[in-house]
Amino acid sequence: MTDLKKLSDDEIVALIKEGKVTNRELTDSEICPTCFNKTHDGVLFGDDSEMIVYEDDILECFLVGNPRAKGHVAVSTKKHFKDMMDIDDVTCERVFKFSKKAMNAIREIYNSESVYLCTMCDGPMNHFHVQLIPRYDFEERGSDNFVKPRQKYVEDKEKVLALRKALK
Ligand SMILES: [Zn+2]
Repeated sequence: MTDLKKLSDDEIVALIKEGKVTNRELTDSEICPTCFNKTHDGVLFGDDSEMIVYEDDILECFLVGNPRAKGHVAVSTKKHFKDMMDIDDVTCERVFKFSKKAMNAIREIYNSESVYLCTMCDGPMNHFHVQLIPRYDFEERGSDNFVKPRQKYVEDKEKVLALRKALK
């Protein structure tokens, strides 16, 4: 594989557009795919600004582009952290207090029976994030909810606005 660190940003963008670079290869070259996407016109994941429901200086919260359920949300730190073991206590408190609020908002707005939380960040270049996955009344309780098939994201403007209002 080409050493991505030796390439210019334009060269990397070209490789991405040709489908020749995976997110994992970027990460392994210490290039954050999330940040690279933001600073290069959404070349990896498209422009996802419409999916953001909350943002401040420490964290951001957004609807997931390939959700495991309607209302699947991620709460992510703005700074890079390898995983949860790596975060400071202030960030930890902030993320989990916010996640509690977001889980209650999701349950109410999406009328789910419950909302599950998981985190499994791994790899050198990461934003620490937790996944909030709704479980609906037609779904069984239990850990299978963490691996429900990925769906295509369908925008529900009304719910997006309701989430933004609830998380303000
Ligand atoms: Zn990043």
